[in-house]
Amino acid sequence: MLKINGERLWASLMAMAEIGATARGGSCRLALSGEDKVGRELFSGWCLDAGLTLSIDGIGNLFARRAGTDPQAAPVMMGSHLDTQPEGGRFDGVYGVLAGLEVVRRLDDLGIKTRKPLEIAVWTNEEGARFTPAMLGSAVFTGTLALEKALSIEDNDGVTVAQALKRTGYDGQRALGGTVDAYFEAHIEQGPILEDNAKSIGVVSGGQAIRWLDVCVEGMAAHAGTTPMPLRKDALYGAAQMIQALEALAGDFAPEGLTTVGQLNIAKSSRNTIPGMVNFTVDLRHHRDAAIEVMEQQVRSRLQDIAAKRGLSLSVNPHWISPATPFDADCVAAVQQAVDALGYAQQPIVSGAGHDAIHLARFCPTAMIFIPCVGGLSHNEAEDVLPEDVRRGTDVLLNAVLTRAGQVE
Ligand SMILES: [Zn+2]
Repeated sequence: MLKINGERLWASLMAMAEIGATARGGSCRLALSGEDKVGRELFSGWCLDAGLTLSIDGIGNLFARRAGTDPQAAPVMMGSHLDTQPEGGRFDGVYGVLAGLEVVRRLDDLGIKTRKPLEIAVWTNEEGARFTPAMLGSAVFTGTLALEKALSIEDNDGVTVAQALKRTGYDGQRALGGTVDAYFEAHIEQGPILEDNAKSIGVVSGGQAIRWLDVCVEGMAAHAGTTPMPLRKDALYGAAQMIQALEALAGDFAPEGLTTVGQLNIAKSSRNTIPGMVNFTVDLRHHRDAAIEVMEQQVRSRLQDIAAKRGLSLSVNPHWISPATPFDADCVAAVQQAVDALGYAQQPIVSGAGHDAIHLARFCPTAMIFIPCVGGLSHNEAEDVLPEDVRRGTDVLLNAVLTRAGQVE
């Protein structure tokens, strides 16, 4: 099995981390900011040194291409993003881009040609920290979001995506989409599972299903001092019981089922008024669509039971749904075969977070490779990884991509 040059990759990761370096050891390169531009230029320079051809599409996605021997073949893509959270880490996204570069550099070292071309993609605004939604560039590339709509999105200062693209010089001409043979994204796990299980590699089977619900509980606002307890219709005590029921529901669907109440609002709250109306959000996750459907039905029935017993009225409305996204069986098998042959400690895993690969999976055969991050910590300046995991993950990427692209003898 082929191996990459871990020291060279680590040096590139550390050089990129210097662009927008923060005081506490992280990086800040907001999408299409001055720092993002400098980071992209650093990457582009490395790509030109490696003899790659650069192109930019209408949403600023940057591609670096290594030609294959078959001029008709569609490219095998690798990649991720170089933008970060405002107080971001050094590896989220950056790892997938620079792992792709290291694959190309290593093939050059070894004088290996591939039948299909290789492309490294840098997707625009993956983080969603400057422009909403997240994963903007890959959404536009895959036709999930219309270009015109994306270009008109504004940041907090009223700067549109179109203006930011123009200012940074990333308003490119390459056509969106096109034919992609396959997409492989290496990424840090951003959670604690691999580290907890002492595994170096997660073979990602897909992205989990997500459902967001808006819940409104209505009772009767009344005086805190004059209303006997049995005569109250307290929306907050009802909501509290509902929230406990939601935690219990996750237990019934463990370990795949996850429930979160991340926002709660007491309407017209006052310390001496019984809450008359409470709104809260529910985030449901599960690996499988069929299971999340049952979870949602259970949320509705369990919350309704509590409301009925307390004389409260209840509404549960869907806010956003994202179906489960299974990755391509052949691409996942290519990753699995690579990691088996390399003999690294590994396990199957489902992606808990959103990634550009989730959009790509609906567009072309796709797979992901996860490596652990220390303490499961991400979206944090202290985000860290072990150099040996960085190396192993990229070894897997190299061999999986080579299988897919076809080594020319
Ligand atoms: Zn990321």
